[in-house]
Amino acid sequence: MRVEFTGQGIYLADLDLWLDPREPRPRAWISHAHRDHAGCVHGEVYATAETLAFYRLRHGDALAGSALREVPYGQTWELAGARLAAYPAAHVLGAAQLLVEWRGRRLLYTGDIKLRPPLCGRATEIVQAERLIVESTFGLPIFHFLTREQARERIVAFARQALEDGRRPVLLAHELGRAQEVAHVLCQAGVPVAVHSAAARYLPSYAAAGFPAPGWLEWTGDAPPEAAIIVPPRLRACLALRGLRLRIAYVSGWAALDNARARTGAEELIPYSDHADFEELLELVEAIGPQEVDVVHGYTDAFARILTLRGKLARAPERPRPVGDNG
Ligand SMILES: [Zn+2]
Repeated sequence: MRVEFTGQGIYLADLDLWLDPREPRPRAWISHAHRDHAGCVHGEVYATAETLAFYRLRHGDALAGSALREVPYGQTWELAGARLAAYPAAHVLGAAQLLVEWRGRRLLYTGDIKLRPPLCGRATEIVQAERLIVESTFGLPIFHFLTREQARERIVAFARQALEDGRRPVLLAHELGRAQEVAHVLCQAGVPVAVHSAAARYLPSYAAAGFPAPGWLEWTGDAPPEAAIIVPPRLRACLALRGLRLRIAYVSGWAALDNARARTGAEELIPYSDHADFEELLELVEAIGPQEVDVVHGYTDAFARILTLRGKLARAPERPRPVGDNG
C-alpha cells in the first residue's frame, strides 16, 4: 500500500483515497467532525452517521454536489480491490478508526483517539494491524489526564463550590466534544447549564446518542443565577464586560500545562481530554501491535523517537503543524 504524507493530508494512492484532507479532494475519509479534519467540502466522503450529521451542520448547502457515504461501524466495504472498515475511536461522537486490508496486509489509521472510555460516546475498539498511522497530539510524558470518573467529580465539585461561594461557574470546553460532555455531567448532577450557541448546536446529536443534557439553556449573555456557563475557549472574550462574578475552569488536555492559567484566565485547571495522554498512546500502540508506525499531529518527532527506543520501526513523516485549541 502506497501511503503519501503531504501538506494537505494523507493519500492512499492505490485507492485514490485521502484521509482527513485539508484541501478539497475527489474522495475522502473523514475520521471525525473537528474542523482540522472535516473543514473542507469533497467530492465523495466516507464517514460514520454522526460525523456526517455534524459535517452537514457545518457545511450545509455547500455539500449539494458531494456524495456522502455513511459507513456503519464494523461493516466492511470494498474500494479499488481493498476491504475497508470503520471501528469506534473514543474522541468526539462519531469518531472512527479506518482499517484498510490490501493484499493480505492491514493498515490502521486512528484519526484522533484515546484509550480510556469517554464521558460521552463509544469506547475505542482495539484492532490489530501490521501498519499503523497514529496521532500524537499529547505524545510527551508530561501529559497525564484524568479518567472520566475523576473528571466528572472535578467538574461537578468545581461548579457546586463556585455557586456556594456566590460566584458564577464558567467552564471553558471545546465546542465539539468536551462542551457536550461537561453539559451532560452537570445536568446529570442537577446543576443547570447555559451553553454558548457554538456548542449548543451539537447537543441534540449527543442527546440522540444517549447522552442528554436535560434542561439546558442557550447562553445569550444572561442566564439564571444558579446555572453554570459553558463556553468554547476561543470565544471566552464573550464573557468580558458582563459584570458577572465569575470563577473559570478550563477543561482540556492543555490544562496539564502550567501556562494554561495565564493563557485562559482560568483559576481551576481540569486536565481531561478527548485525546490519549502519553501512557495511553504507548498502551494503544502496544495493543495494536504494528510492525511499522507513522506518527502524525503534535509531538511527532519526540513520540516517534520514544517508540523507536522501545523497539518499534517508527517515523514522523509530516512537517509539524501549529497545534490548535482542540485538545
Ligand atoms: Zn479531533
